[in-house]
Amino acid sequence: KREEALKELEVLEKNCQNLPLNLEYESFKELPLSLLTQQGLQQSNYIEMTEIQRKAIPLALRGRDVLGAAKTGSGKTLAFLIPVIESLYRKSWTQLDGLGALVIAPTRELAIQIFEVLRKIGRKHSLSAGLVIGGKNVDVEQERINRMNILICTPGRLLQHMDQTVNFKCDNIQVLVLDEADRILDLGFEKTINAIIENLPKERQTLMFSATQTKSVKDLARLSLEDPEYVSIIEDS
Ligand code: ADP
Ligand code: MG
Repeated sequence: KREEALKELEVLEKNCQNLPLNLEYESFKELPLSLLTQQGLQQSNYIEMTEIQRKAIPLALRGRDVLGAAKTGSGKTLAFLIPVIESLYRKSWTQLDGLGALVIAPTRELAIQIFEVLRKIGRKHSLSAGLVIGGKNVDVEQERINRMNILICTPGRLLQHMDQTVNFKCDNIQVLVLDEADRILDLGFEKTINAIIENLPKERQTLMFSATQTKSVKDLARLSLEDPEYVSIIEDS
């Protein structure tokens, strides 16, 4: 059983590294995703990919940094959550490995929405996930935060924990996601994001999504992404 599992990981890793990017993938099941993710997607009725998912997920599975722009409602959440789950799964991430991925969203409401999608499609996985969004007792968050593999956060509260929570370790982060980067910047979180990124290992994957490609979004991308692929689904108007 254990051998089979290791074999699956090995095959997945190889298939991701060699994933052809010139093909038009249409459904999730054409991608080298874990069985657990495939089941989670199926049970959530996610079958065909949206356009941003088709373009961003294969790149992200190959380990590239991605800057994706697509309007609200185009399916950006799965475009980053699937690569996050798969990255940790392929590394056999367990509770003992601690925090492996951070997702930063501009508001509590958006963070909660992302968390709900993660719970749906990640239901078969044994990774732990938590919300760090303020509004709750900071002590309660402090106690739980160290047991999480994936955290969905708002910028201010995350930085607060980085500054104040003993044992809050970010040095094992594999993937950073900045969702709705344009709104994060509009809300005045630029300095906060920069301070957060300074606390993260340089060797990581970064996925950044935005509804618009403003100059400030591009500036932030220059600072936080490495040799990114730009994926833009902006319709002509
Ligand atoms: P965005 O972040 O770009 O605004 P969301 O990720 O919130 O978009 O997705 C918008 C809606 O589309 C959600 O209701 C989501 O469940 C649905 N959705 C996303 N991807 C798919 C898909 N591949 N198939 C069917 N529905 C999808
Ligand atoms: Mg979104």
